[in-house]
Amino acid sequence: MMLRALFAVWLLITPKFSQDPPPEQPTNIILVIGDGMGLAQIALAEYLTKPPSPLAQMEVVGLQKTHSINNLETDSAAAGTAMSCGVKTFNAGVGVGPDSIAVKSIMELARAKGMKTGFVVTSSVVHATPACFYAHSQSRATYEIIASQLVNSGMDLFVGGGAKYFKDRYSDGIDLLKVLEQKNYSILTSDGLNIQSDLASIPLQNKIACFTAFEDPLRATQGRTYLPEISVKAIDALEKRADKGYMLMIEASQIDWADHANDQEWLALEMQDAYSMLDVVLKKVKEDDNTLLIVTADHECSYMSLKGKRSPRVEFNTKVHSSQMVPVFATGPGAEEFLGVYENTAIFEKMKMLLGL
Ligand SMILES: [Zn+2]
Repeated sequence: MMLRALFAVWLLITPKFSQDPPPEQPTNIILVIGDGMGLAQIALAEYLTKPPSPLAQMEVVGLQKTHSINNLETDSAAAGTAMSCGVKTFNAGVGVGPDSIAVKSIMELARAKGMKTGFVVTSSVVHATPACFYAHSQSRATYEIIASQLVNSGMDLFVGGGAKYFKDRYSDGIDLLKVLEQKNYSILTSDGLNIQSDLASIPLQNKIACFTAFEDPLRATQGRTYLPEISVKAIDALEKRADKGYMLMIEASQIDWADHANDQEWLALEMQDAYSMLDVVLKKVKEDDNTLLIVTADHECSYMSLKGKRSPRVEFNTKVHSSQMVPVFATGPGAEEFLGVYENTAIFEKMKMLLGL
């Protein structure tokens, strides 16, 4: 009787078991996007690469719905805007709502709080997915406007192709590489395959603009291999510069292009390149307890399926994006927030909440 009474008092004074503890807060977030990377594309990499699979080591898996505001088949701009800004918009819209008015991105919010921000891609730096994290435009095709917005964004580090939108501009003839230098960027260049100098040698007070190609970067089938190594160097560079945390977006951009081309060999190499990057990024993230790693896609492309008996054979069913849900993998502090089924806009909401922005 006495015990039962004591137990009743204990129940009254202790917090309810049903209340979840607040999520752990990460200091840093690394968001990896495989453009056009659906489940079949992931399955292909799982069958082609040696275990352990980096994705099998992630703590949490969820699913996100990728449709844009007016189309079940989103494009990278609308899906990128959903994840970066938390709004569903029309296809081709970059960092704007359905009314074409600019919406602040997670990186803009993070910078306002003193965090460092950066991105590494295998497309041009003004391509739709990275643009959604710093630019605002009704059309993803306004590359020279988007380049001007990148120069003025305050982004601490960026790596990708498309130097021509900075150096060789039709619209105004301005040399944006010179403007970047005036804004305290160190500019690195590449032969399209390898980065010519080391990010680690850049003075810490400088920002980093690293152009991996004048046009689009080469395909993985043409020998492009910079993504894994530069991703780790980008993490190091941001870590060294950040005293209030950082946010890094890494995109394996050309998975989507191989899907569109219905090219199995190209797709296989892009997926293997993405897995090599994930291997080293995951290893890096595991070195500390402060970094949340999220791996997802903006959409699937080609309604791909995987066939074959001994070796995987890809069957592409269209040359366009699909309406399929895409997986979300997460590991690190706050990872459990990514369990379940949700809209792509929830990626923004969850990151914002976890970073306290
Ligand atoms: Zn596409």
